[in-house]
Amino acid sequence: MSLRQLPSVDVLLQQPHTRRLTEAYGRELTLDALRSALQGARDAVRAGQPVPSAEVLLESAQRNLAEWTSPSLVPVINATGVILHTNLGRAPLSASALRAMQQVAQGYATLEYDLPSGQRGTRTAHAERLLTRITGAEAALVVNNNAGAVLLALTALAKGREVIIARSQLVEVGGGFRIPDVMRQSGARLVEVGTSNRTHPADFEEALGARTAMMLRAHHSNFRLVGFTSEPTLAEMAGIAAAHQVPVVDDLGSGALLDTAAFGLGHEPMVQESLAAGAALVMFSGDKLLGGPQAGILVGHEALMARLRKHPLARALRADKLCLAALEATLLHYARGEALQALPVWQMIAAPLSTLRVRAERWATEIGRGQAIESRSTVGGGSLPEETLPTWALALSLPKPQTVLARLRQASLPIIARVEEERVLLDPRTVLPDQDDLLLRLLAEALAASDASPTGKAS
Ligand SMILES: *Cc1c(COP(=O)(O)O)cnc(C)c1O
Repeated sequence: MSLRQLPSVDVLLQQPHTRRLTEAYGRELTLDALRSALQGARDAVRAGQPVPSAEVLLESAQRNLAEWTSPSLVPVINATGVILHTNLGRAPLSASALRAMQQVAQGYATLEYDLPSGQRGTRTAHAERLLTRITGAEAALVVNNNAGAVLLALTALAKGREVIIARSQLVEVGGGFRIPDVMRQSGARLVEVGTSNRTHPADFEEALGARTAMMLRAHHSNFRLVGFTSEPTLAEMAGIAAAHQVPVVDDLGSGALLDTAAFGLGHEPMVQESLAAGAALVMFSGDKLLGGPQAGILVGHEALMARLRKHPLARALRADKLCLAALEATLLHYARGEALQALPVWQMIAAPLSTLRVRAERWATEIGRGQAIESRSTVGGGSLPEETLPTWALALSLPKPQTVLARLRQASLPIIARVEEERVLLDPRTVLPDQDDLLLRLLAEALAASDASPTGKAS
């Protein structure tokens, strides 16, 4: 009986308020939302609930519409102190990389077009020109990400043949990327040599044979080999490989072009060093220490690159125009010798401790609680595991720190912070300097909401 008292979709559509919904969200979506609200009401009525008014149904439809249309990929403020936070999108781009993306996105571009001749061009030529200039490599190729670059290199150069790698380098990088699995996927046969802790040049010598396609070195990425350990250097590997006329391929991971050791960190292996040591092919990510967009970059010998370019996987893994525009602009900073100043990632790495302290202390003063304390930031992104940079952070002692973190995540521009020793910590190193005032306003609002909640007042 009572189900019949529910208004029909047509009746709801004629409500004055529905018109505002159709204007904001379109007719199709609004109809879906009304039907969904009615279905919910039918279920509730069957379960013994009273019949809702048309007004209540419209409110429910409006909630549906708001939920369905709110984007889930949204910007956040990274106050974690992890510079290359993979879950938060790794490297923020430079101002000119952003401009370059916008310019090619809003109209047409010379993506695969050679202006002087008016003929078809190649899409990766743009960034490759700069990559060879900056690294001194003979050739370069850009694909969608470094995992793709590794898969492409193994497939195109080693399918059905053997790849020799040290046991200590059979790593899982994260996000399910495991070197042995990628090897299997490529159709190359994995020949692991040495032991978990020690591998010697002779181990490679012994494994080399007619079926060897390459010797592979993989960066340990997120773990560190310590204690009684050894691995051949890249130069040693290259020497052995050259004698057998096979290439040494180096999965460098983060691919630094500047020296991290200049900033109180350990030395992250650099692209130029791998090439100088004799690697025939070096692969790295565009959005780790390079400080650019997500990309997989390969540099090295032209003869190998020519085989990679022709492989069907290269087409499947190709980078889009937005990526290539941002990458070219990012590389230009290196070519001009201004990478340290222009790239947010390197600005964060190089941020002076005194500046971080001033910011953290200002945050404490403006918020009127908590204090600036000494803490540690990390580089992240699989580079420099266990290495930290000294920083100053705002520490807030609050009754339920996890609840405060959740409140910060609900801010209109969500703030991602961390809890250490029962305190909420906000590290200015990864907060873009022009976000300071916004962060303070959102933080004050979140803390006021926390105070008002029954979980208790902050100390
Ligand atoms: C990060 C990393 C990868 C994967 O690179 P993506 O660009 O994330 O696909 C591969 N190898 C190593 C050693 C890495 O550190």
